Amino acid sequence: MPSPVTAFKAAAAAYVEKRDTRAFLRQSMTGYLKARALREAEFQDWPAARLAASGAKAEAMDHLDRYLAQFVENLESRGTKVFFAKDGERARDYIRSVIDAHGARCIVKSKSMAGEEIHLTETLEHAGFEVIESDLGEYIVQLLGQRPFHIVAPAMHLRRDEVRDLFANKLGPDAGLNDDPQALTMDARRAIRRKYLEADIGISGVNFAVAETGQMVICTNEGNGRLSTSLPRVHIAVMGIEKVVPRLDDLALLLPMLASAGTGQHITGYTTIIGGPRQPGEADGPEEFHVVIMDNGRTSLLADAEQRDALHCIRCGACIYMCPIFKNVGGHTYDTTYMGPIGSVITPHLRGLQDWKHLPASSSLCGACTETCPVHIDLHHHLLHHRRNAAATRPVWWEKLAFRLYRHLASRPRLFALAGRLGRVAQSLARPLLGTRLDPARPWTRCRTLPPPPAESFRQWWSRKGAPEEDT
Ligand code: SF4
Repeated sequence: MPSPVTAFKAAAAAYVEKRDTRAFLRQSMTGYLKARALREAEFQDWPAARLAASGAKAEAMDHLDRYLAQFVENLESRGTKVFFAKDGERARDYIRSVIDAHGARCIVKSKSMAGEEIHLTETLEHAGFEVIESDLGEYIVQLLGQRPFHIVAPAMHLRRDEVRDLFANKLGPDAGLNDDPQALTMDARRAIRRKYLEADIGISGVNFAVAETGQMVICTNEGNGRLSTSLPRVHIAVMGIEKVVPRLDDLALLLPMLASAGTGQHITGYTTIIGGPRQPGEADGPEEFHVVIMDNGRTSLLADAEQRDALHCIRCGACIYMCPIFKNVGGHTYDTTYMGPIGSVITPHLRGLQDWKHLPASSSLCGACTETCPVHIDLHHHLLHHRRNAAATRPVWWEKLAFRLYRHLASRPRLFALAGRLGRVAQSLARPLLGTRLDPARPWTRCRTLPPPPAESFRQWWSRKGAPEEDT
């Protein structure tokens, strides 16, 4: 198995060659950008709303012990079984034990990033269970045997005709007859609908967990969250500890912010609020309800005073859309559950900084992510924090040497000027090598044009112009 950084470089190099896909994605983003700008403008004060949303999440994280306990107490009082999972393995084992206890074979699942994080679908499929992803995008990538390309739009990298061909291949002769989006949605709907009735167990994620009432909120645009939580007899919801919010009132802000930032909608198509299993006198809902609350590295992030605001993330996906690196390398290149800026911040916490330090290094640090984040996470500074921490905990000898050398030169102006002159000469001599296999800057010059070295340094130009020189 190649290391994560080797795999990342290889996948990125392959993706940048896909010019058509990149152009198609750029074009498909224009609708989102317009809609999002309109939604932001409809807020009376978008910056103040961001601060308020961030404040609600910060309050939840600052008192997580209290709010989690309140959430669980309220849930259990209505008969929900709650399991705290320290890591993905324990979460999977618990879910498997529930499935086995019911002799289940068919499982219908609505979107769950926590489930993605612990490879739940693949694990259950390998164990021989039939698992149907009911979110349309997730269903498409599942049929393709791929992982989601984006946390909100898992199949955004596929064109309509590709989906049409996929459905024609996989869903029988009545499907994939044309590439009309509505017809394709109906194809998927016909295939998935009967599975809700056949499924023994439903699995879902959780967008928000309200401590005050012990209710879980699931936002979908297709109503699949509603069906998978109410039709199967047993339901399992999987969530990270950071999903807790203090009050039901907090949703009045967080729900429109999630929809505005994530998809440019006023509010997500279906917002389902569930309080646990079916209660006496209720017409529908599962007879048994389990909630798996997962840590899986989150408490170490909570303990990091500098970066803990990354736990405020409401998974709207906006920072990913905005990221120039994501646009150029694509979602699959990251090989992580969470791609883009938020993924590059939290993955090193969830999977280890040294193995994943290439993600924070793969950023232009333009700050577009921080600017767009509806809950004000200081994403691009956290990428810098990771770079600093990675270098501090395991310095690379040649980088250390290079920076020492640079410090030595930069603090001696005459030597610095001499090094500059020599560098310009060396660069002129090396120009014939550009683009050849002997080119020392080949990874850089492969896709960029190196400008010719200037005839003089900035200092020389400055003094020639007659400006006073300070220290040479
Ligand atoms: S970090 Fe912010 S912008 Fe990115 S997914 Fe999370 S909430 Fe959305």
